[in-house]
Amino acid sequence: MNASEQLARVADEVSVCQKCALYHSRKLAVPGEGPPDSEIMFIGEGPGFYENEQGRPFVGAAGKFLDELLSAAGMKRGGVWIGNVVKCRPPANRDPLPEELEACDAYLQRQIEAINPSVIITLGRYSMTRFMPGAKISAVHGQMRKVGERFVIAMFHPAAALHQASLKPAIVSDFARLPGLLEEARKALGRAGGQEGESAVPRREDPKQLNMF
Ligand code: URA
Ligand code: SF4
Repeated sequence: MNASEQLARVADEVSVCQKCALYHSRKLAVPGEGPPDSEIMFIGEGPGFYENEQGRPFVGAAGKFLDELLSAAGMKRGGVWIGNVVKCRPPANRDPLPEELEACDAYLQRQIEAINPSVIITLGRYSMTRFMPGAKISAVHGQMRKVGERFVIAMFHPAAALHQASLKPAIVSDFARLPGLLEEARKALGRAGGQEGESAVPRREDPKQLNMF
C-alpha cells in the first residue's frame, strides 16, 4: 500500500470507529487531510463544532487564523497535512480524556508513518505532550527538537492565541520562522527540499512580514 492508500484506509476506519466513547457524540469523524507526501504535519487537539459538521479539520475560527498564519509564512493549506490527536468531537468541546487520546493514537501513528514528514508541528497542549511529555508550552514554543526520526515544533494553539491577545505575537513569529526551520530539518535529515507541484513551503522566499512587528 502506498501512503495515499494507507491514509484512505485510516480515514475509512475512523469514520466508523467505536474504540472510545467519543463516537457517541460525533456527527462526522475528522481523520485529517493533506498531501500524502507532505513535509509538514500540523496536529491539533480535536474537532470542534464546524469540524464535526463538515468532517474536515480546522474549518472554524481557529482554522481561519491558521490559514492566515500559514499564508504569512509563505505556505498554502493545500501543501501541508492537518489533523488532530482525537478524530471525533468531544461533547461541548471539552478536553479529550486520557483514555480517548490513547484509543485514538494508533490512527495518528499510522498517519505519521504513512506520510513520514520531516517536521511535525503540534498545536496545543495535548498534541505537544504526545511528542514532548512534560514540556511547558511557554518554554518550548517555536523550538525545533529531534524526536525519533523527525523534528517536532510545539506551537500555541491558534484558538488560544485568538482568545488571548498576549499569545498572538509569539504564534505569529513562530510561524514566520517555519520556512527556515524546515530547511534546517531537511538538511539534518538529508532530504532534498522543494517537492514538485504544490510544495508545502517555498524554500526561503521571503515570508510576508506581518505588520505587527
Ligand atoms: N481545533 C483543533 O484542535 N482542531 C480542529 O480541527 C479545529 C479546532
Ligand atoms: Fe475512534 Fe478516535 Fe473517534 Fe475515539 S476519537 S471513536 S478512538 S476515531
